[in-house]
Amino acid sequence: MPPSNEERREALKDLYHQARACTRCPQLASTRTTVVFGSGNANADLMFCGEAPGKNEDEQGLPFVGQAGKLLDKLLAEIGLTRADVFVVNVLKCRPPGNRDPAPVEIENCQDYLMRQIELIEPTVICTLGNFATKLLRADPTGITRLHGREEERVIGTRAVRLYPIFHPAAALYTPANVEVLRRDFARLPELLALGPPRQPGEEEKVPELPEPEMAAVAVDDRQLGLF
Ligand code: URA
Repeated sequence: MPPSNEERREALKDLYHQARACTRCPQLASTRTTVVFGSGNANADLMFCGEAPGKNEDEQGLPFVGQAGKLLDKLLAEIGLTRADVFVVNVLKCRPPGNRDPAPVEIENCQDYLMRQIELIEPTVICTLGNFATKLLRADPTGITRLHGREEERVIGTRAVRLYPIFHPAAALYTPANVEVLRRDFARLPELLALGPPRQPGEEEKVPELPEPEMAAVAVDDRQLGLF
């Protein structure tokens, strides 16, 4: 049976307390101000996964609160959603000093937290923002330029999800033409969400119900019964 909303929130809080005390990456643990666990609706169907906290996120303890976050909010509003409808996480929960790229060992150290967040929140659609999240969750080095805007079903941990890579909003801030690409990719999210969850591992394929018999067929049966 899936967890109740309350159980899900409690389990996420436990995980947050573990992450807050994490010292698996000694450098990040010593330079961070806060652990940016992620935020949003614990029962969300849509999860966004970015790269790592920046300066603003590190200071406030929340993901995507700087300029990239403002763009994320704007694009969400354009499809009728707010942060309260989604859950936002990052590959790394701690800020790499000077906003350097996450190191492979840091990604490995941190990935249990992300996997557990996915397992607990059970999103239908995971939208990976940029290269780091896309490469990690697809377990493949193909880059975002080739993959953005193409959804695929992937099993992550024990669950099948609709994985949907798009450009990172920060990349769009540097290259304004990418804002339009991002907007077009965002516009497909409602349609993906409407599909509902993909078939889960071990779940039987749903056989479509037979249509109601048509009136003509009923009339033939009535005639056979001598009613005419
Ligand atoms: N960029 C990210 O990848 N994540 C944040 O939380 C902020 C900026």
